[in-house]
Amino acid sequence: MMAEMRGELLLDEPLARHTSWRVGGPADRYYKPADLDDLAAFLATLPENEPVMWLGLGSYLLVRDGGIRGTVVATHGVLKRVERLDDERVYAESGVPCAKLARSCARWGLRSGEFFAGIPGTVGGALAMNAGAFGGETWAHVLAVDVIDRHGRRRCRPREDYAVGYRSVEGPAGEWFLGAELRFEPGDAGQEEIREILARRKATQPIGLPSCGSVFRNPPGDHAARLIESAGLKGLELGGARVSDKHANFIISRRGATASDIERLIRHVQATVKAVHGVELVPEVRVAGEADR
Ligand SMILES: Cc1cc2nc3c(=O)[nH]c(=O)nc-3n(C[C@H](O)[C@H](O)[C@H](O)COP(=O)(O)OP(=O)(O)OC[C@H]3O[C@@H](n4cnc5c(N)ncnc54)[C@H](O)[C@@H]3O)c2cc1C
Repeated sequence: MMAEMRGELLLDEPLARHTSWRVGGPADRYYKPADLDDLAAFLATLPENEPVMWLGLGSYLLVRDGGIRGTVVATHGVLKRVERLDDERVYAESGVPCAKLARSCARWGLRSGEFFAGIPGTVGGALAMNAGAFGGETWAHVLAVDVIDRHGRRRCRPREDYAVGYRSVEGPAGEWFLGAELRFEPGDAGQEEIREILARRKATQPIGLPSCGSVFRNPPGDHAARLIESAGLKGLELGGARVSDKHANFIISRRGATASDIERLIRHVQATVKAVHGVELVPEVRVAGEADR
């Protein structure tokens, strides 16, 4: 079926190796394409009913312990071109780490992309999630995106084809992002701002420990972290999962933790906050895969 495949195909690849929580069962097939043409050819060979999931840096993904049935396509380390197109526009492929995009913009004298420095994912993940921080968000910069479908067909789509909201992006079904044309402001940019963003993060978040960033969406007019902390949940542990002592909206996983520990802790936090404050917390992290194999 895959005679001309030039990428790397791994069978039963543990996704704990590819997610920032470091938990998650195996993907039946894990494919790291050699390049864009190889990716298109690979997708075209997949059976019609094969489920396909895309993976960037796995920094907003809870893969359950039973793993993923079907094929996972990895972009990190593959689609890594980032280039300046003119004095405002930049093209970034989806496997480019957001931090690299931020640094490149700063080097090219472009402002307003500094917030990408604090997002530990890829451009593809940022496009899928409309990732944002410190007042900036991904889709505020998107002019157009290149996408690929289930059969390996590529096309360019204007921003107008997408309904974009807070951490949500809806577009044509059955397509994934290959890259985006982004606009930034020309001007004296941001090495200093980037340093400040990273310092602020380090001061307020448990950076360096396995997590997925903020687990719950902030409810209108309030902060999930404040509600969790004032419900007395900071530092609470279930199995190998713990509510961070530094930032209560972060869940940290320890060595030996399972996705099921994290899911149980998420449910416990939801139930306790509901009982104490009457507020329903909604997780924004993506959950994928099966509980058991
Ligand atoms: C310490 C920490 C801090 C964080 N801080 C922030 C923050 O301030 N703001 C914020 O918004 N997020 C934050 N995050 C969450 C996360 O980094 C972002 O959501 C990021 O954009 C996810 O990118 P990723 O490449 O890791 O995506 P993944 O976790 O690999 O995937 C996320 C989703 O995107 C899909 N996807 C990935 N690539 C593609 C593609 N090319 N085309 C289509 N779909 C794709 C996946 O299938 C999945 O559904 C933080 C995470 C951590 C660990």
